[in-house]
Amino acid sequence: MMIDILEFTLERLTQTFEKDFGKGRFHAQALFRDIFKQGNVNFLTSPEFLDSPRFARILKGKVSVNPGVVVNTFDEGELTKFITRLSDGLEIESVVIPMTRHNTLCISSQVGCKMGCKFCETGRMGFKRNLSISEITGQIYNGRHYLKKDIKNIVFMGMGEPLDNFDNVMGAIQVMNQQQGFDIALRHMTLSTAGFVPGIERLAKMKMPGLRLAISINAPDDKIRSSLMPINKVFPLAALKKSLVDFSLPKRGIFLFEYILIKGLNDSPAHAAMLADYIHPLPARLNLIAYNKIIGLDYENPCDDEMYTFADLLSAKGIMVIKRWSRGRSVAAGCGQLGTHT
Ligand code: SF4
Repeated sequence: MMIDILEFTLERLTQTFEKDFGKGRFHAQALFRDIFKQGNVNFLTSPEFLDSPRFARILKGKVSVNPGVVVNTFDEGELTKFITRLSDGLEIESVVIPMTRHNTLCISSQVGCKMGCKFCETGRMGFKRNLSISEITGQIYNGRHYLKKDIKNIVFMGMGEPLDNFDNVMGAIQVMNQQQGFDIALRHMTLSTAGFVPGIERLAKMKMPGLRLAISINAPDDKIRSSLMPINKVFPLAALKKSLVDFSLPKRGIFLFEYILIKGLNDSPAHAAMLADYIHPLPARLNLIAYNKIIGLDYENPCDDEMYTFADLLSAKGIMVIKRWSRGRSVAAGCGQLGTHT
């Protein structure tokens, strides 16, 4: 059996070593350190394997490290979008976003997306397929070891609806969370959903303390939301809210709501009031994101004053608001723009 190492937890690797090779945690930990922490695919040279040359030779033929091939990168300042070609030739996009003290990696969970959000370039691509666990974790492998970026946060806000690829996304989170490996704390990972209620309900039953859930809300009523996000016709705002009310957050946990402000569509004072009422009973923060103009779509960017006014109206209603002007416009790496190769 081949060991596709980027989809292994340490526990599973230890069990595989015990069962298949009569070895154990000592070598599993060494391999984890070499591959995940150091990006050293030539692990035969590590002391633990130099002491067991026969085992190392067997392992060499059995362990594969397949993060995909980075075929292109685009920079805007310190922000980097990179394109990874997968083994079947399909391509996915990921973005390294510089924060104050470290980088956040925005990763993809699917090639394309079924959700068809009207403002989103990926939604317009349609759906090709789910990513495997190692294709998801391969993005952080490439970000750290190929691009040499210090990545401490993961956001599932790239291509795809992560809760529609539930099992592989959960598997990837477990791999990325391994202390002896990528060592990303659950509280440093955020899943962003378009409101896929069955996925939210499944997530509520998982033991993932600290994992953050972001909801791409984008409209204060069903009419506008259904026009922007077809998923709302299946899971309207009331059903979405019920799934959130039933979701038991950890102590001091909050939901993140994302609201893309589109001039003339969802930006009036009445919309702000309805949105505040919708969010109000939930512990939450709202990221207010200025729409990024996409060529071929009629939606318009709000001006700065419209952003400030909308944010002030929400704040006055007691909603915690963070304003974001999406970075990466020139490399099509802003929110809702992945899926275009510039
Ligand atoms: Fe899919 Fe997210 Fe784009 Fe909607 S915004 S189509 S859920 S990738």
